[in-house]
Amino acid sequence: MSRRIYSDITDLIEKRRAEGLIKEERVITSPQGTEIEVGSRKNVLNFCANNYLGLSNHPAVRQAAKDTMDSRGYGLSSVRFICGTQDIHRELETKVSEFLGTDDTILYAACYDANAGIFEPFLDSDSAIIADQLNHASIISGVRLCKAKRYIYSHNQTGTGSYSFDGKDLPGLEAILSSEEVQNCRYRMVSTDGVFSMNGDIAPLDRIVKLCNKYDALLMVDDSHATGYIGATGRGTHEHYGVMGSVDLITTTFGKALGGASGGCTSGRKELIDWLRQMSRPYLFSNTVAPAVVGATIKAIDMLTQSTALRDKVHENANYFRDGIRKAGFSIIDGETAIVPIMFGGYENDAVLVQKFANDLLEHGVYAIGFFFPVVALGQSRIRVQLSAAHTREQLDRAIQAFVAVGRENGIVN
Ligand SMILES: *Cc1c(COP(=O)(O)O)cnc(C)c1O
Repeated sequence: MSRRIYSDITDLIEKRRAEGLIKEERVITSPQGTEIEVGSRKNVLNFCANNYLGLSNHPAVRQAAKDTMDSRGYGLSSVRFICGTQDIHRELETKVSEFLGTDDTILYAACYDANAGIFEPFLDSDSAIIADQLNHASIISGVRLCKAKRYIYSHNQTGTGSYSFDGKDLPGLEAILSSEEVQNCRYRMVSTDGVFSMNGDIAPLDRIVKLCNKYDALLMVDDSHATGYIGATGRGTHEHYGVMGSVDLITTTFGKALGGASGGCTSGRKELIDWLRQMSRPYLFSNTVAPAVVGATIKAIDMLTQSTALRDKVHENANYFRDGIRKAGFSIIDGETAIVPIMFGGYENDAVLVQKFANDLLEHGVYAIGFFFPVVALGQSRIRVQLSAAHTREQLDRAIQAFVAVGRENGIVN
């Protein structure tokens, strides 16, 4: 068989490889954790998992998964509305609602699905979606699946002017919301990440909530990188800004801080969640979350409700690492999350450089990933470091030393 597309794709991949832009996957041969086995390398320090609270392989979470598998079985072989709802699915929905301070919650196989299924049930061609420029790819997928008019505002800018970010000039949120064409729409929905994964910065939800109230817009926040550790008790970005109860819809994942396996949800106003259960396609036509995942997520939420120790620890670790790496002379995007982006944008061939830097780090026993276009803007390549409550002080010191050593080898710090 010779289909034209086969050779075309082969050429495309080869071209990318020649440009140094192919993403290679490293193979881990241990459970997820702060020290992992990568291929034949043992005791590699891991700084690129979304394991913010160290729950990915926590004994209590593992045990809850095992117990639930014993009591509720392995799979449900069904979507929710046919025969895929167990008592524990309802229990998890209630727990999430209590944790986030919302009316009700609907589970999805992943937050990707929650985002894919959140817009179309509410918004038609007479509605408007107003989205932050840096929103997660899964939100963009969801927006593409609905017919609403689309508007992009400049990253985290809520004003009435025009703003430049990552080489793009875009209007601020209020400039769009106040426009006649958007005010003439039947419904408006503002959509933003709570914590932005590539920059580690936080959406200004206090100002965004005010604008949504002023201009009668629904607010949807994807808090995947926040749920569990942002805010005084880890409830998320809405807690951080003191606007719990003012966000119409929150989507989030169980695949990051809350145990890291899989699963996600949409949580918010009862009327809206009721409608999603009737109309949201990834909910209606995709399998129910596996019982073991549900049981383990319930356990994770219980642990976080009882104590903020893990939440406090990841912030302490992130602040310690940020200070150390800044003092070493690296350029970082400052912030208050557990994501620390170390920037290489000023260098020639920054995409190739961050990959070399990441490979050199692995030689020094530290696993972190270089991100480059198209995952981040051109000329904005970075090594993204993610901290965990499970990192020890000694591990953080070893990582900072490795960054300094590799930084010197590559002439980036002295
Ligand atoms: C990780 C992430 C997702 C996807 O979550 P899954 O549950 O893995 O599908 C969605 N949105 C944001 C902002 C994320 O960071």
